[in-house]
Amino acid sequence: MHKKLFIPGPVEVREDVLAGMAQPMIGHRTKAASALQKGISDKLRKLMYTENEMILSTSSGSGLMEGAVRSCTGKRAAVFSIGAFGDRWYKMAQANNVPADCFKAELGQATLPEEVDKALQGGMYDVVCITHNETATGVTNPVYDIAEVMKKYPEVVWCLDAVSSLGGAKIEVDKLGVDVCITSTQKCLGLPPGMSIASVSEKAYLNAQKVKFRGLYFDLVELYKFVTERDHQYPSTPSLSHMFALDHQLDRIMEEGPEVRFERHAKMAEMVRSWAGLNFALYSNEKYLSDTVTCITNTREISFAELNKALGERGYMISNGYGALKDKTFRIAHMADTTPKDIRELLTVIDEVLTEM
Ligand SMILES: *Cc1c(COP(=O)(O)O)cnc(C)c1O
Repeated sequence: MHKKLFIPGPVEVREDVLAGMAQPMIGHRTKAASALQKGISDKLRKLMYTENEMILSTSSGSGLMEGAVRSCTGKRAAVFSIGAFGDRWYKMAQANNVPADCFKAELGQATLPEEVDKALQGGMYDVVCITHNETATGVTNPVYDIAEVMKKYPEVVWCLDAVSSLGGAKIEVDKLGVDVCITSTQKCLGLPPGMSIASVSEKAYLNAQKVKFRGLYFDLVELYKFVTERDHQYPSTPSLSHMFALDHQLDRIMEEGPEVRFERHAKMAEMVRSWAGLNFALYSNEKYLSDTVTCITNTREISFAELNKALGERGYMISNGYGALKDKTFRIAHMADTTPKDIRELLTVIDEVLTEM
């Protein structure tokens, strides 16, 4: 039996989107491939509220995160971590010999604008890496407040990990001044895993050109140049199947309307939060709760494995805690094409299972 996924990626994928992947191949150097990439970019620009160029990478989101920190850092990167995915960005910097410092917040808390300001004041950093939505704790950072600080440092390149929020929460890339905004297909966009997406500002591109060792496969300059100078092409062979499905899914997202989509996510988040408040407790600071994933403290100390097994037998799957929070919390994702009705159904089934435990 297929289990309906309520985990923070991969998510449930609509039948028509799955079918979108099963199209005959086209040559990746053809005009048709260029048109496909360009069409995807135009739609993504609307969803991301930006005029920046879009690059695609045949990798999961981690690919372009690693590419961004490596390609953009000429001096030193300031990584702000509020959990496992922020930590990962710092590890990527270290693994690539990119000078970096990690500023960590307590789990369940957010990156505060004044912390970013304090770190940037000395002029040590030319790149800032921030997680938009920390999937491990269900926290969304106050990026609009952080943006006010970033405006004081126009020479610094801002990289934002929006892997678990883009498509489910409003991120106005140009208004914020985000230089590299990264996501991947298997979360709020509602596609199978396998492709990563980033908007890249001209500033990020020009700065990256001065960086000597950017790697090759995830070199932002190379990816950007193929888009701008080679008519929306891709340096190697991209997953055309993902591109077919992405193009189709972006049409669906535009049909629904981005604002309506974000409201649907907010509504589902509200439902899960009030349920969690009644039955368990919310793990994170209530000022910064995510609209795409909720992290719940296992206050009743139930066996999560048993809960998820019982849910599995009924055709549902939720997620355990991540990293350091593995045994203390569990998570329910409410992203992509999941509906409030699906959430209501899931919560009813969890209630049923809990009475039996
Ligand atoms: C899932 C996730 C990642 C990693 O993305 P992959 O596509 O699995 O490489 C990075 N950051 C956040 C916030 C995530 O939720």
